[in-house]
Amino acid sequence: MDDCIQEKSKISEYASETCIFCKIIKGEIPSSKVYEDEKVFAFLDIGPVNKGHTLVIPKEHHETIVDVPDDLLKDVIVVVKKLSKTVKNGVGADGFSVLTNNYEAAGQVVPHAHFHIIPRLNSDGLMHWPQNKYSEGEMDSVKEKIVSKIS
Ligand code: 5GP
Ligand code: ZN
Repeated sequence: MDDCIQEKSKISEYASETCIFCKIIKGEIPSSKVYEDEKVFAFLDIGPVNKGHTLVIPKEHHETIVDVPDDLLKDVIVVVKKLSKTVKNGVGADGFSVLTNNYEAAGQVVPHAHFHIIPRLNSDGLMHWPQNKYSEGEMDSVKEKIVSKIS
């Protein structure tokens, strides 16, 4: 058991040493920092969807949002809320989207949990993702699959 914990902590140490976002937090890679407190860090995305696109991350290295301890995740989301307003007002956007990609299948490129705050403009022309349909009765069975996994 102790070996397992030690192994996990070694993996996590290695991950944080090689992680781009951990390097940004430590100042080893430069960034346009917009916010920092004891637990949370926020900076401009280098490849913005719209100007002002901001990333909000926990300072502690965790791969996806489900790996982030609840208390820390609460701190992060409160900063997301605060910065959503200031990013929108700061760049004079009409709205904003908040999103988080988790796991490669969802397009997560950097394996350090993060929230995107994307300023949105009435004129930005971005579309919502495609919407599919359920077949008759499928919605209920899908709902049951999800509900049965809630612990
Ligand atoms: P993901 O696809 O993992 O949700 O998003 C990762 C984001 O990190 C991308 O939007 C990408 O532009 C941004 N990014 C990757 N490397 C860097 C970097 O070195 N500096 C900054 N500021 N952003 C980065
Ligand atoms: Zn990291």
